[in-house]
Amino acid sequence: MVLVGALLLVGITVFALLQPIIAGKEAPLRSVGEEPSEAQFRKRVSLLQLRDAEYEYAMGKLGEEDYQALRQEISVEALAAIQADEIESRRGSGEFEGPTDLELEAEIATVRSRLSGGFFCSNCGHPNPAGSRFCSDCGTPIQAPGTSKPS
Ligand SMILES: [Zn+2]
Repeated sequence: MVLVGALLLVGITVFALLQPIIAGKEAPLRSVGEEPSEAQFRKRVSLLQLRDAEYEYAMGKLGEEDYQALRQEISVEALAAIQADEIESRRGSGEFEGPTDLELEAEIATVRSRLSGGFFCSNCGHPNPAGSRFCSDCGTPIQAPGTSKPS
């Protein structure tokens, strides 16, 4: 867990350093004439961390366990940020102003589908890949949620 914490810290630091560059490169992600809210910022940080984690996992820099743990942490943070952002935008104004972040929304949908595709153990909270019948950490049988079955 210390390693995961360190990785998160590194991710945040790297993001903070790269933020101006990223903001310049992905200009459409910036709302027109508006600073991104804190929730939007957290959302972006989470999604970038997720991307980093997947990249490092693909590169073999991150072990399976670390990757799963990191992904769960980031996903939880991302979902929290998404909810906070939804509340903020609802509070801010009754309707949307300017373009919505379609790219970002698509990524969020991916995060969400990944979360619903895999199962968090009801006993210990360990994330298990889709199709798992038992928790790989504690062995508790997993009840698959109502996902569509291949026919
Ligand atoms: Zn478990």
